Amino acid sequence: MTTLLVDAHCHLDLPAFSSDRDAVWERARARHVTRAVVPSVRPDTWRATLDCALPRERVVALGIHPHALLTLPRAALDRGLKELAATVQAHRDRVVAIGECGLDASLDPAIVDPMLQRQVFLAQVAVAAALDLPLVLHVVRSHALALTLLRSVPLPSRRGMVHSYSGGPDLVRAWTELGFHLSFSGAITRPRARSPIDSAKAVPDHRMLVETDSPDQLPTGVDRSDRRCEPCDLPVIAQSLATLRGQTLEHVSQVTTDNACALFGFR
Ligand SMILES: [Zn+2]
Repeated sequence: MTTLLVDAHCHLDLPAFSSDRDAVWERARARHVTRAVVPSVRPDTWRATLDCALPRERVVALGIHPHALLTLPRAALDRGLKELAATVQAHRDRVVAIGECGLDASLDPAIVDPMLQRQVFLAQVAVAAALDLPLVLHVVRSHALALTLLRSVPLPSRRGMVHSYSGGPDLVRAWTELGFHLSFSGAITRPRARSPIDSAKAVPDHRMLVETDSPDQLPTGVDRSDRRCEPCDLPVIAQSLATLRGQTLEHVSQVTTDNACALFGFR
């Protein structure tokens, strides 16, 4: 029997998949990727994200990505934050998490005010804690700050995941002891990506997840003319993780599937 896989983070709701979403998902299923978490990036696309849910196969997260602050008008941002909890509550059949949200220090501080990023992040953490739903975090070059902020506020009981973890092996323990899962993407298939590779070796079994981050982050070794990553590429990432950790693909598949199901409560 082949072990199933859960893609813990893929943007199937984006226009990159609008013309062939069903075919993309069929290809994933054929490679035993039978479940996925689809995170949203901004309030004006929450509807598309919600529509991307599929009973027992695809669940969604609602939130506001730090990159959305580059273009989202202030009024739309305020409205989104105000409506987040109620929108989640109205769709509890499919919304299993809050995100993706977080902190990204690669954004130009002259364009996106770091204090605003922080406020928008913490507002979403508060919603996650109030609704007791796990967080889907995007953290880039801000791991120490994110950890400090998260340690200072109430958190949801199942905490959440850091997607496409890039914090380095020295912070793996801080994240996992706070109760967060770390999710690994195609970055670990690039031999020179020392930080994610060393982190993938350091994470304990009970805190690891795998994701494609489709349509971004096509794994090394997958040849596709349009360079679009798809959920069907997940076995390549799971195999890389297994090789790095000296484990079997079956073991990594089983553990990451169990972790994802427990974290996101797949039914
Ligand atoms: Zn993402």
